[in-house]
Amino acid sequence: MVAGGVGDGYGGYRAQLVETLQRKGVRDLAVLRAVGTVPRHLFVPESVRHRAYDDAALPIGSGQTISQPWVQARYLEAVGLTGRERVLEVGTGSGYQTALLALLVDSVFSVERIAGLAQAAKRALDAAGARNVTVLVGDGTLGWRPFAPYDAIFVAAASPHVPAPLVEQLAEGGRMVIPIGDRAAQTLMLVVRRGSDVHTTTIGDVRFVPLLGEFGFR
Ligand code: SAH
Repeated sequence: MVAGGVGDGYGGYRAQLVETLQRKGVRDLAVLRAVGTVPRHLFVPESVRHRAYDDAALPIGSGQTISQPWVQARYLEAVGLTGRERVLEVGTGSGYQTALLALLVDSVFSVERIAGLAQAAKRALDAAGARNVTVLVGDGTLGWRPFAPYDAIFVAAASPHVPAPLVEQLAEGGRMVIPIGDRAAQTLMLVVRRGSDVHTTTIGDVRFVPLLGEFGFR
C-alpha cells in the first residue's frame, strides 16, 4: 500500500488534480482516490517539481516521460480493477503509475528496460510507502514468466502489435491495456483473454513513447 502524502503540503494540489480529472470524465472512485493519495511530486525530477500536479506529461530523464494523469486515469479505469489482481506493468518509467496500481490491486510486478529509471522509481516507490510492488529490469515485451499468469497487464509504451508473450501470460479472463500503432500516434486497446480467444476493443487515441524490445519496436 502507499502511505500517501497526507500532510506533505501538496494535498491541495492533489485535490485540484482530482477535480480536473472528474471534470474530464473520470468516474472510477478508486482511481480518483488513488490520484488524491499518491505524492506525484516524488516521482518527477526536481526541475519540474513545481508542475508535478499539472494534468500534463513531464520529462523524467533518459528521453522518457511520465504520462499525463488523465491518460493514466482512463487507462486504469478501462480495466475495472477489483483490488484482488496480480498485475504486470511494462514500462515503470517514473514509477508513478506503479504507485497508483499499488493502491488499486493486490500486487504489482513492473518491468523497465532502463536500469537508471528503474532505480529512481524504486526509491520514489519506497519513499511513497508502496510495499506490494516489485520493480524488475529487462525487456518487458517478453513479460515476466516466473510470476505469471497476470489478471491484468498494463503496457505504458506504444507497440506495433500485441506482444505474443504478454497474451500467453494473461490469466483466463485477464485484461490488458496497450497502445497500438506507429511511433507517432496510437490507439489504446483493451485486450481480454477468453480461452484461446482474444477479444479486442478500442478505448481512444493516445501518444506514448515506443516500446523497444524483441516483441515491440526493434
Ligand atoms: N507510466 C510511466 C511512464 C512510462 S513511459 C510513468 O508513470 O512514469 C514508458 C516507459 O517504458 C519508459 O520508461 C521506457 O523506458 C519503458 N520501456 C520501453 N520499452 C520497454 C520494454 N521493452 N520493457 C520495459 N520497459 C520499456
